[in-house]
Amino acid sequence: MTRRKLVAGNWKMNGLKRNLGEVRAIAAAAARCPSVDVALCVPFTLIADAAAAAPDLVIGGQDCHAEDSGPHTGCIAAPMLVEAGARTVIVGHSERRADQFETSQDAWAKAAAAHRHGLNVILCCGETEAEHDAGRAERVVQAQIEKSVPDDAAPDWFTLSYEPRWAIGTGRTPSVESIAAMHAIARAKLKQLVGAEAARGIRILYGGSMTGKNAASILAAPDVDGGLIGGASLTAEKFVPIIEAAVEVSK
Ligand code: PEP
Repeated sequence: MTRRKLVAGNWKMNGLKRNLGEVRAIAAAAARCPSVDVALCVPFTLIADAAAAAPDLVIGGQDCHAEDSGPHTGCIAAPMLVEAGARTVIVGHSERRADQFETSQDAWAKAAAAHRHGLNVILCCGETEAEHDAGRAERVVQAQIEKSVPDDAAPDWFTLSYEPRWAIGTGRTPSVESIAAMHAIARAKLKQLVGAEAARGIRILYGGSMTGKNAASILAAPDVDGGLIGGASLTAEKFVPIIEAAVEVSK
């Protein structure tokens, strides 16, 4: 089964209306690269404007609540994302696990809520530096996948993203071989959980300090079906070379 590459940007807590020019420029590049999928997950406050500025680009949120409404001050529900114009959402990002103490069970419930409302889901997993140094990365990632991936996860709405926390925003990346090895482990775990056919089709992204310089080698690795990109997605100048690298390795 051929899996189209997905290049997804995560603007985190960055982006004001004055940055919509970058959204437009990224959308224009995505339109020139129809052989790959591109998405941009912006702050909640920018979703409607970004969707209006770039109607053909997949705009996403960076989190959603497991419930559809209720007394949860400051939280965003999946139907709110949909109404704002989001088509996808990141759940279980390591920054939310660290800052908001989110668990894999939380990520599971958020993914289920997002899917209920027709959003695509990018669910993140990945070990900390301490877990990596202790040789526990494999077990940690397997356990996260086991606890957070919904049973009905399927390629048409679900994407996994492997993001070693120590590689996020640090400029450090694992070797291409170790990324490929972890992606193979993740796919084997998906197979146990959702069956061989779904596991073959589900995209597994790599995230952690991906740039225009290292993208081609990472994206060409077996079982790497795209990237989730933080810092290098903030400007078209940095993000477009990653999209173009995905196009090159897809040829
Ligand atoms: C991320 O936050 O998902 C990420 C991969 O960030 P960065 O590309 O900045 O390391």
